[in-house]
Amino acid sequence: MIDLRSDTVTRPTGEMRRAMAEAAVGDDVFGEDPTVNRLEEYVAELLGKEAALYAPSGTMTNQIGVFVNTGRGDEVLLHEEAHVFNYEGGAPALLSGVQLRPLPGARGAIRPETLRAAVRPEDVHFARPRLLCLENTHNVSGGKVLPLEDFAAVAGSARDLGLKVHLDGARLFNAAVATGVAAREWCAHADTLSVCSSKGLGAPVGSLLAGARETIREARRARKAFGGGMRQAGVIAVASLHAFVHHRERLAEDHRRARLLAEGLAGAGYTVEPPETNIVLLQTDDPKALLAALARENVLATSGGAGKVRLCTHLDVDDRDIENAVEAAGRVRAPGGGR
Ligand SMILES: *Cc1c(COP(=O)(O)O)cnc(C)c1O
Repeated sequence: MIDLRSDTVTRPTGEMRRAMAEAAVGDDVFGEDPTVNRLEEYVAELLGKEAALYAPSGTMTNQIGVFVNTGRGDEVLLHEEAHVFNYEGGAPALLSGVQLRPLPGARGAIRPETLRAAVRPEDVHFARPRLLCLENTHNVSGGKVLPLEDFAAVAGSARDLGLKVHLDGARLFNAAVATGVAAREWCAHADTLSVCSSKGLGAPVGSLLAGARETIREARRARKAFGGGMRQAGVIAVASLHAFVHHRERLAEDHRRARLLAEGLAGAGYTVEPPETNIVLLQTDDPKALLAALARENVLATSGGAGKVRLCTHLDVDDRDIENAVEAAGRVRAPGGGR
């Protein structure tokens, strides 16, 4: 089976498992797990922030980010195809009591003028605009990079309008590797940001929220309240640390394979968007039928929204898998193929 559904399907490597077996641990709710502490310090430094907080998932770190930057009844502005809006179970309403204001924009990006037009003045009729959430790379648009200048421009507008900025950086290192711009350059324009070790970096679990020391102190309270306080978490935190140290640069391999895959699929007659990172979107009239036909050829992918199929490269696929996936897709497309 060639599993291209998501970059979350990776299994821990042998080295990662050895590190997990040997990790020093303590009770992290008491702040006594040396491995978790090491991971938080490493990631804070990597992202150029004062502090970081380890949590079970990117949903939790995003939602803690929303919580610490807002109050009940505030308005959070974000892209209409943002993960925080579409794929986090309604958590901003559930956990923070905020109202979401989805905004349009090409490539998952919000333009400064769109933001300025959407932010309303102080008036008893209006929810208070408080936070802008940005996402980089942008998942639904096919792993598109939000370039640093564009990111800085919209974050600057947000600041001028009195808003805080949270960055959903589940795949921020894909953006960094694809552009050669250090992750911390983007982070400098955000108050809080979330990064995942369980996507292309290949850890089994774990995300971090980074920000100012005082903000992360509040975030630690919120993590406990949301049920994310873990005890001897060093056994899993060490896998994240290993992923951040050893698997960041190799994301370039995933990007190269995504290009290989896109070229192969285009050669087989599919309409494919050129990938910027590790996500390939292809257009099809009938995603369900194509996904079923590919599955019969032992290639797994997912729906990429209306009229699209999404394929994702990651640590557990190699060049041979990509060649095989392209051949399978070619057979499916041939007259009477894939049956
Ligand atoms: C995967 C993802 C998250 C977090 O997902 P979890 O499964 O909760 O770790 C957040 N934002 C984006 C853009 C993602 O792709």
